[in-house]
Amino acid sequence: MIPKQDLSRRRFIAGGAALAALPLLSHRSAAAEVDVVVVGAGAAGLAATRDLLGRGISVLTLEASSRVGGRAHTDLALFGVPYDIGAHWLHRAGTNPFVQHAKDNGFTAYPAPDTETLYVGDRKATEGEHSAYTAAYENAIRAISAAGRRGRDVSPASVVPDAGSWHDLVHFAIGPYEMAKDFDAFSCVDWWNSDDGSDFYCKEGYGALVAHSARDLDVSLSTRVTSIDWSGSGVAVETDRGRIRAKACIVTVSTGVLANEDIGFVPALPDEMVDAFHGISMGVYDHIALLFDENVLGTGPDEYLLYNARTRRKHSPALMGLLTNVSGTGLTLADVGGDFAMELENAGGEAAIDFAKSELRKIFGAAIDKHLVKAHFTRWGHNTLTRGSYASALPGAYRLRSVLRRPVGERVWFAGEACSTDEWATVAGAHKVGVRVAEHVAMAMR
Ligand SMILES: Cc1cc2nc3c(=O)[nH]c(=O)nc-3n(C[C@H](O)[C@H](O)[C@H](O)COP(=O)(O)OP(=O)(O)OC[C@H]3O[C@@H](n4cnc5c(N)ncnc54)[C@H](O)[C@@H]3O)c2cc1C
Repeated sequence: MIPKQDLSRRRFIAGGAALAALPLLSHRSAAAEVDVVVVGAGAAGLAATRDLLGRGISVLTLEASSRVGGRAHTDLALFGVPYDIGAHWLHRAGTNPFVQHAKDNGFTAYPAPDTETLYVGDRKATEGEHSAYTAAYENAIRAISAAGRRGRDVSPASVVPDAGSWHDLVHFAIGPYEMAKDFDAFSCVDWWNSDDGSDFYCKEGYGALVAHSARDLDVSLSTRVTSIDWSGSGVAVETDRGRIRAKACIVTVSTGVLANEDIGFVPALPDEMVDAFHGISMGVYDHIALLFDENVLGTGPDEYLLYNARTRRKHSPALMGLLTNVSGTGLTLADVGGDFAMELENAGGEAAIDFAKSELRKIFGAAIDKHLVKAHFTRWGHNTLTRGSYASALPGAYRLRSVLRRPVGERVWFAGEACSTDEWATVAGAHKVGVRVAEHVAMAMR
């Protein structure tokens, strides 16, 4: 995701070796025991794990997939260059702990350049057109901000004036490209309450950075939690590799996974909590990654490329935003979001890649095809371990943000990105939530 106001820019953890030797048991009668179970090893789960271990609390961290990092993951195999399949922008660089981790550990973290090219049809926008787009964009931002500041929990669709010929691009830039949702699917007040700041990039990949930060942590990989029984004094966490008993658990999976009831709770969670899983709903944001053998787009390293087009789809414009020549490589991230991204996912990876190619052909001609070496489409909406890309409040559901942050029975705590007060939908926000919840759990256990 890219920041909202910046237009032009924009592993079984144990408290000791004894616990590490505990097998995950396949018989319910003989459960492993630990102080805290952390469900999920994304940025939030990893941060909570480290914080608890630092307090001498024993932890078992369970991760369904075969790797740590969750939605922050860098792939090297697909293109031979670092490819962030999920998060790429290090938001709020000034307070982002991963910027410091990068600096301390030999990663190449650098400020995101503030360069953008805007196309209208097959030519670059004139200065006048660029100003007109900027004015239309700022007008929309002003309307959403005014509603948000006044606490109006309504959708941008109900407050943003028609932007004329810039309608689709303005809608795309603020909605799908930033919020992973269309204008009718998120709340102005939620948008207003999200914090922002300048961005950094990490040449080796944001996912690589997150994985490196957890290199000394032991996580039980390929261990899927199926249910959490909180009926007794602690919790009994059922997994596909056995049952673990703990005094408390921290659940860091996405609201998409929770809303889909992929993890059962016994007894059932309070209705309001279930409402919160649905109300702070997942948006869809995908990369169509394109590797070119030369600089066919004519842009600089990490330069944005946007284009204006009337897609005749007012609800969810069929547009993409491009981050070109990622960290000086031949990789370009052509990103789509909202309902249109989900339509592409439903149509399949080839359809998405064809879409990107045909859009680029309209601007740069058929030469695009012969310089395209390889492409990949992410399909986060179909990922059963996330069920979407990142979360935001539906119109009218903003108050449910705080519900998500309430512990259940003082032994079940939620701590994914969606539980952040002001940095939700980000890796750093997830990390900070993990640390905060670990502090609360440690206090509750005292
Ligand atoms: C395409 C895309 C682009 C993004 N861009 C940015 C960006 O540029 N900058 C930014 O800061 N943020 C970005 N984000 C958002 C960011 O990636 C997330 O906010 C953050 O990584 C979430 O961390 P988390 O720990 O809350 O959740 P996750 O990373 O989802 O971690 C939860 C973990 O739980 C695991 N899990 C799920 N179900 C189970 C189960 N039943 N049992 C055990 N484990 C389970 C999952 O496999 C996962 O590893 C992007 C996300 C996407 C998808």
